[in-house]
Amino acid sequence: MVSLSTNIQFLKGVGEQRAKRYARLGVQTIGDLLEYYPRDYIDCSHPSAILSAPYDQPCAIRARVAAKSGEQRIRKGLSLFKVLVTDGQSDLLITFFNAKFTVASLKEEETYLFYGRVAGRIGRREMASPQIFPDDPSLPFSPVYPLTEGLSSKIIAANVRQALSLIPAQQADPLPRQIREANRLCARREALEQIHFPSNAQSLAQARRRLIFEELFGLHLALGKTREKAKRELSAPMKPVAMEPFYRLFPFSLTGAQQRAIRDCLADLCRPSPMNRLLQGDVGSGKTMVAAACAYFAAQNGYQTAMMAPTEILASQHFQTWSRLFSGTGIAVGLLTGSMPAAAKRETQEKIASGQLQVIVGTHALLQSQVSFHRLGLAVTDEQHRFGVAQRLALSQKTPCGRYPHVLVMSATPIPRTLALLVYGDLDLSILDELPKGRQPVKTYLIDPGKRERAYRFIRSHLDQGRQAYIVCPLVDTAENTPAGLESAVREAQRLAADSFAGYSVGILHGRMKPAEKEQVMARFHAGELQLLVTTTVIEVGVDVPNATIMLVQNAERFGLSQLHQLRGRVGRGGAESFCILVSEHTGSPRLQAICRTNDGFRIAEEDLKLRGPGDFFGLRQHGLPAMKIAGLLEDVALADQARAAALSVLASDPDLQLPEHAALRAQTDRMLETAGA
Ligand code: ADP
Ligand code: MG
Repeated sequence: MVSLSTNIQFLKGVGEQRAKRYARLGVQTIGDLLEYYPRDYIDCSHPSAILSAPYDQPCAIRARVAAKSGEQRIRKGLSLFKVLVTDGQSDLLITFFNAKFTVASLKEEETYLFYGRVAGRIGRREMASPQIFPDDPSLPFSPVYPLTEGLSSKIIAANVRQALSLIPAQQADPLPRQIREANRLCARREALEQIHFPSNAQSLAQARRRLIFEELFGLHLALGKTREKAKRELSAPMKPVAMEPFYRLFPFSLTGAQQRAIRDCLADLCRPSPMNRLLQGDVGSGKTMVAAACAYFAAQNGYQTAMMAPTEILASQHFQTWSRLFSGTGIAVGLLTGSMPAAAKRETQEKIASGQLQVIVGTHALLQSQVSFHRLGLAVTDEQHRFGVAQRLALSQKTPCGRYPHVLVMSATPIPRTLALLVYGDLDLSILDELPKGRQPVKTYLIDPGKRERAYRFIRSHLDQGRQAYIVCPLVDTAENTPAGLESAVREAQRLAADSFAGYSVGILHGRMKPAEKEQVMARFHAGELQLLVTTTVIEVGVDVPNATIMLVQNAERFGLSQLHQLRGRVGRGGAESFCILVSEHTGSPRLQAICRTNDGFRIAEEDLKLRGPGDFFGLRQHGLPAMKIAGLLEDVALADQARAAALSVLASDPDLQLPEHAALRAQTDRMLETAGA
C-alpha cells in the first residue's frame, strides 16, 4: 500500500535519474514530495482577451489553435515554430524556439491557456515561448516550484498530482481536532491538495494558513516538550561570590552593557530553575567576557562550565584566551574537539568526568555521549545561530547530577521578538548595545577590480607599520568542496605571495585544511608571525586578532550582507583605525552600498531582511531553526502566536505527549528534533 513514506520511485515517470534530482531537493518519499510546496502560482483564473491584454506583462490568454507552421531552421541549433491562435475576435502569433515536441503536442482547433507576455503592434499581437496549460476551469492556478536542474514545475506538478491520487483520502491528521476547530484550520489532506492545486485564492490562503500553523505548532511542541522537562527539574543553584578577583584578571574595565549583562546572568545563576538567556551583541561588543565572568562564578561555586563554539578555530581561540585569563586562579581550562587524537580526547574526557577541569571549551564534540560531566552547572553556546536547535538542546540535556545546567546562548545576529519566542520560548534577553571604549568604526570602501592594485599598495603600507591584514576569497560552503574552488583560493594566495606581497609573510587558511594545520596557521597569525592571511569564510565568526586592522574582500557580491558584516567584524577590534575594502564589479549594488554606510549590525540585519524579501522573512535559517518548509514565508505574526498558544495548551495537559490522540504529534516532534541537528 502506498503511504507517505513510500519512495518516490514508486511514482510513474520517476526513475533512478529523476529520483536523484529529487534527492537534491531533499525529496525522497511521497510525503516529502507533498511537502515540497510551490513558491508561486501562475494565475490563469482571469484570462485576458488578446486585444485588451496588458502589454509586455505576464498574462494568460485563452485561445484556440488555428494554424501551425512547419519547422524553420534559423541557423544550426536554432529552429523556429509559429503557431497562430485566436480567441474568436483577434489573432495572436506565437513563436517557439527549439520546441518541436511542445508544438507537436498542440492540437489544431483545441483551446489552451497560453501564459506569457504579449508584444507586437496592434493588429499583429505576438507572444514568444509561452507556457501552455490545458483549458480546465477547475485548475485556475498552476504551481511554480523552486527548481533544480532537470526538474520543471510541470514534471513536479504531474508527480504531485499522482501522489495525491494514490494517498488514501482518510489520512490521519496530526493536528488534534479541537485545535483545528478552535483555530479554524482545514484538514491536512485538503490543505495539501489546495497548496499544490488551489481552486481559488481563498482556499489557497486557507491551505497556507493551515500548513504554516502546523509547522510552527510542531516546532513549539518539540521545543516546549524539552523545555518543560527542564523546568520541572532543578537547576544548579549557586551562591554569590566575590567577583573582584575576576575583574583584576584583565587590563581593561568592562563596558556598562557588559556589567549589566553579567549582573543579569549572575542573578539567574542563583535561582532554583535553570537560566535560559540570550546574550545578543554586535560583533566586537565583548560577549566572551560576559561568558567568562559566568564561568568564573560557576567555578567558584564548584560547578563546571561547557562552552560550545561552532568551529574548531573558534574553540581553540577561546581555549587559548581563557587558559591565559584563568591562569593563576586555580581554574583549569580544557579543550575538546572532534579532530583531536583519540588518546588526547580520552584523556580530556576523563578529566571532564572526574571534575579536574572546571571549564571545557569545545565544538559539538562536547555533545557526544562519551562526554559525561562531573558537575555541569553552565552551558554556553557561542554564535548560537550556527547550531541547530537540537544541538543546542542537547548540551542543556547533559545532566550529570540530575540537575539541568543553566543555559547562556550568545549571538551577534539580531533576532526579532516573534522569532526569538519561536527559537527559545520564554527566553530572557541581555543586549550589549555598547562597544568597548576607544573603538572606531571600520571605514568601509567599495571599489571595482580595476583599483585592486592600489588597494594592495594601501594594505602594504599598513603591513609596513606593523599591522596585519586579511584577504578574503569567496569560497562559500559548496564551492569550497569542489577542487576547482579550493584551487582558486590556494592559487590566489600563491600569486599574492609571489607578486603583490613578495617579501611579506603570507599565510593561507581554508576549510579543507587539516585542523592541526589550520590551528598552526591561526597561531602564527595570532603571534604576528604572519602579516597577511589569505582566507575563506572560515574566519567569519569570532576570530579575534586585534592587531589585524585591514581586510579586503574579493568578489564581495557573492557574500550575504550579514556575512559581510561578520567578516568585517574581524577588524576594528582594537583601538586603531581599521579598514574594510570590498572589491566587486557591482559598485552600484544597493546591498554593498548599504554595508559601506553603516557599522550597525542591527541596521544591517534589517536591510538584509528587506533585500532578501519575504522568501526568508525572519532569516529563519540563520537562527539555526530546522529548515522550515513553509513558515519561512510567515507574514502572519498573529498566527505564530496562536500556534504557540495551542502547543503550550497541549503540553499543559500532556507534557510528554503520552496520550493516544497525541501519538502522531509525538512521532512528528521526535523526528523534528532528530533531524534538526543534522
Ligand atoms: P564578540 O562580542 O564579537 O564575541 P569578543 O568577546 O571577542 O567580542 O571581544 C572583542 C575584543 O574586545 C576582544 O579582543 C576582547 O578582549 C576585547 N574586549 C572585550 N571587552 C572589552 C572592554 N570592556 N574593553 C576593551 N576591550 C574589550
Ligand atoms: Mg565572539
